[in-house]
Amino acid sequence: MTELWLDITDIPATGRDFSFSDPAIWEEPIRDYGLPYRFDPEALPVAELAVAPQKDGVLVRGRLSGRVITPCDRCAEDTMIPLDSPFELYEELPRPGETSLETALVRRRGKVLELDVGGLVWEQFVLAMPVKPLCSDGCLGLCPKCGRNLNAGSCTCDEPEGDPRLAPLRGLRVTKPTN
Ligand SMILES: [Zn+2]
Ligand SMILES: [Zn+2]
Repeated sequence: MTELWLDITDIPATGRDFSFSDPAIWEEPIRDYGLPYRFDPEALPVAELAVAPQKDGVLVRGRLSGRVITPCDRCAEDTMIPLDSPFELYEELPRPGETSLETALVRRRGKVLELDVGGLVWEQFVLAMPVKPLCSDGCLGLCPKCGRNLNAGSCTCDEPEGDPRLAPLRGLRVTKPTN
């Protein structure tokens, strides 16, 4: 995970806007988790955050945008996933004396309060990505036998002589017994 902590100690109650657009914020965990995502260079990811401290917590409203390229879950062709995901979350502040809460995105270091922007925008990215991205709802996928992309046309596997397990036998000449 990318270490990116935002000092939120002095943000007024009316809030403050931030924009994060370094693709490394997402590219690092994508690499670490071995995920197949790439970013469209024409639409690199951007996270816009409005951070507003409250009495016992901090309210974060934001939006994630950009375009991700990832293989279709059925046919493995490059598929463009547009990100346009608004989000809103409320993080409780650790009490004075506490460093951080168990799962918190906010930590206290001395008098300084910091928001885990790296963790936050990664969480939002994961939530925004479809579990099974598809190039289209009607994607026909790959033939399980020959691997042909069935969106480009059908194969002959369903015909009896197309069974690849029989391929080695296909060259044999069938001769009738002569007696
Ligand atoms: Zn597909
Ligand atoms: Zn086939």
